[in-house]
Amino acid sequence: MNVATTSFFSPERMASLHEVATPCYVYDLNILGETLNRLQAAVSPRNFHVHYAFKANTDKRILEIVREAGLGADCVSGQEVKCAIDNGFRPNQVAFAGVGKTDAEIQLALQHDIFCFNAESMPELQVIAELAAQTNRVARIALRLNPNVKANTHHYITTGLEENKFGIGMHELSSVVDFVLAHPNLELLGMHVHIGSQITDMEVFRTLCMRVNELQEWFASRRIALKVINVGGGLGVNYHEPDRDAFPNLEQYFDIFSQHLHVRPNQEVHFELGRSLVAQCGALLSRVTYIKQGVQTQFAILDAGMTELIRPALYQAYHKIENLSAIGKTATQRYDVVGPVCESSDCFGKAVDLPETKRGDLIAIRSTGAYGEVMASNYNLRERAPTLYF
Ligand SMILES: *Cc1c(COP(=O)(O)O)cnc(C)c1O
Repeated sequence: MNVATTSFFSPERMASLHEVATPCYVYDLNILGETLNRLQAAVSPRNFHVHYAFKANTDKRILEIVREAGLGADCVSGQEVKCAIDNGFRPNQVAFAGVGKTDAEIQLALQHDIFCFNAESMPELQVIAELAAQTNRVARIALRLNPNVKANTHHYITTGLEENKFGIGMHELSSVVDFVLAHPNLELLGMHVHIGSQITDMEVFRTLCMRVNELQEWFASRRIALKVINVGGGLGVNYHEPDRDAFPNLEQYFDIFSQHLHVRPNQEVHFELGRSLVAQCGALLSRVTYIKQGVQTQFAILDAGMTELIRPALYQAYHKIENLSAIGKTATQRYDVVGPVCESSDCFGKAVDLPETKRGDLIAIRSTGAYGEVMASNYNLRERAPTLYF
């Protein structure tokens, strides 16, 4: 039998939520802190370096905790680079990735002398070189290679296949490397790969290690030393059991790289984790506005919608939905849980088993700390949801 329980929303916390304005995001900073402690414990003995992927969540309190834990910043826009520096990350901790960096974004990053550009194409390298030359700077470069590894995740969040827009293909690697090595305003720092997100099959990371080893051979055979091997991010979380698996299995994840990656002397291994560090510390709170009887289904219509959390509409993502007003009661009903926005895809879950649910009930949509609030929009002129912290 399916009885509603939750440890994220303890009775004491529930008592503080009676009057809460919804929709709102709530973050459990203890979960974040504990995740980062576990991260530290896993990476320190291995001498791995982690940059936090800003695009997962740029809440100020979260960034502060991430910075205090000593992580660097992995940014994918000029605004994220600026946000990292404004929030106290040192420029030499900032990496800048992305397929379409504009001149203004590159100039901003050059002015701050950031740690590294993760460069994705020849035309981009030409622009970085030109802009660096204009200001007499040297841009450090990690070449983002397309390793052609299948991530076994949703095709919208797969990035490491030749058909995807990301990275430099093997067919052009030789001319790209020659260009970087020959240019006085570029320094070849290393290589970078990132094959996708929400990867839960550890075999995928083992395959990635093998592929990176092959790519390393390619550089070694040309006597090119790479200081940094950046293997990206992508570690998944358990969206189905956010309480049981509140923390990602970081030991197991980093162990795969310890075991299978051939690291050369004086080489650093870098990671860019986003989702796995922040997903489980967030929840979206909402109230039921109406229960509506359909022909085959009954709808629970919430005051939160795809404007607050677009992941279900965008890539059919699953999030656990809980009725916090009915904790301890048995799930006896089935609802399509939907938002108020004028789109049929504005649906958080179909045929969700819940206890009997009424207008005014408080609903939690779990594991929304990553790619939740950052993707919010004002569509339908809806206001931004406020944020609470536990
Ligand atoms: C999004 C992204 C990441 C982080 O991915 P997660 O799945 O959140 O860990 C890392 N590197 C790059 C280049 C990215 O675009």
